[in-house]
Amino acid sequence: MTTVRTRIAPSPTGDPHVGTAYIALFNLCFARQHGGQFILRIEDTDQVRSTKESEAQILSALRWVGLEWNEGPDVGGPHAPYRQSERSDIYKAHARELVEKGHAFHCFCTAERLDALRAEQMAAKGALGYDGHCMHLAQDEVAARLAAGEPSVIRMIVPREGECRIQDMLRGEIVIPWSEVDMQVLMKADGLPTYHLANVVDDHLMEITHVIRGEEWISSGPKHVLLYQYFGWQAPVFCHMPLLRNPDKSKLSKRKNPTSISFYERMGYLPEALLNYLGRMGWSMPDEREKFTLDEMIASFDLSRVSLGGPTFDVEKLSWLNSVWLREMPVPDLMVAFQKWAFNPAYVEQVIKQIQPRIHTLSDAVSWAGFFFAGQVNVTPESFAHKKLSPDEVRRVLQITLWEIEALRTWNHETVSALLSRVSTTMSIKLRDFMPSFFVAISGSTSSTNVMDAMAILGPDMTRSRLRHALAVLGGVSKQETKDWEKAWRDMSSAAVVDSPEGAA
Ligand code: GLU
Repeated sequence: MTTVRTRIAPSPTGDPHVGTAYIALFNLCFARQHGGQFILRIEDTDQVRSTKESEAQILSALRWVGLEWNEGPDVGGPHAPYRQSERSDIYKAHARELVEKGHAFHCFCTAERLDALRAEQMAAKGALGYDGHCMHLAQDEVAARLAAGEPSVIRMIVPREGECRIQDMLRGEIVIPWSEVDMQVLMKADGLPTYHLANVVDDHLMEITHVIRGEEWISSGPKHVLLYQYFGWQAPVFCHMPLLRNPDKSKLSKRKNPTSISFYERMGYLPEALLNYLGRMGWSMPDEREKFTLDEMIASFDLSRVSLGGPTFDVEKLSWLNSVWLREMPVPDLMVAFQKWAFNPAYVEQVIKQIQPRIHTLSDAVSWAGFFFAGQVNVTPESFAHKKLSPDEVRRVLQITLWEIEALRTWNHETVSALLSRVSTTMSIKLRDFMPSFFVAISGSTSSTNVMDAMAILGPDMTRSRLRHALAVLGGVSKQETKDWEKAWRDMSSAAVVDSPEGAA
């Protein structure tokens, strides 16, 4: 019998997401239950969005919740390297093989042509997608254009008729008409593979037997199934897990809920409790008990009992479960857990550097540094009283900045401070008048350590959560205000672009 091998394949393009830990947990339980192996692979083929920092954070967050992998970029293994950016030659060779076998072709279409095609298809309200323009170019023409260095991509050929049938462990047969599947680009002009090619090639070469992933990948299924056929490989078993949802049933997103594992770590959730809660997403123990350990989950695991009804990730329920874990812990263990949380050296070092210039005694550290350890800070509407800005303006400043922060991709002192000065300039509010509301929202007081540093240290989720809390304390933002402010902000931003020297150039 073949050994069960599962994997988690995160793309290192942002904060370590609770959804990644959730999918990783189910992959790990399935593999362990069958005496198999669980692999971690880094899918960093998107060179623009992938970062080393994000990769390091994902690995350490998954490890913090208590997940361990048998093979991965940090622990090695028989199928190394486990980082796609180090496997380029493998994908090139496989793309070449598909072209040679007539399953893929070089496409020289320019971005302009593709844009025009898309506009035409949209106007005709027909199906969108590549029209096969370069599919039948003569071999010598292709060779000549490649030799001349003309930029090109490699696309896969997709049948135009019939339908693709995919067997899913939870959903049974999934049927998708081929007409809905685009002639996917497999290799980009920069010589790097797209997700689809790299993912299929690696799952095969790494001998993955079961692909357990989020339901957002169902639509990629036909392309993958076809690639397995083209290569003449046995496809793995597919299982698409239900997506985590916000309590209002929308897709879990950082705009509504903190989604970063680092946030839950910083808030003082126990890793065991978070993992336990993720195990309750769409799944339950045979005896329905709420509190269980990873080993208990593995011992009773049955993937076919996952229910497809959109599991809700509810921070209040998680807090309740965490409180049960804390209460039931022997005091010595709780002491260890608390010390680990409070005195995590990497975090404490950052905080100490902030307060060092300000303290007269070590005991001063409590009042200066308290907000670095708190969940929410204690603020009232009066805390936000401002000499120059009206209460409405304060809310507007906080809300508009929050929107911009939600869109910020790289989080560090420089990017945060650039964002704050950009918003204050665009809103024509002097930085001196703009900043006090942030001091209060983040630290609870107008006199604190540098607030931009504090935001960088607290991280995006904690920062957003405090700004959202401040807005709630100030009475929230109505739907009408949201609309009006969004429009006003758009107008201000475009005016600012026109005014700036680069905009005028
Ligand atoms: N890199 C993909 C992700 O970020 C992997 C999807 C899959 O599991 O196939 O989720």
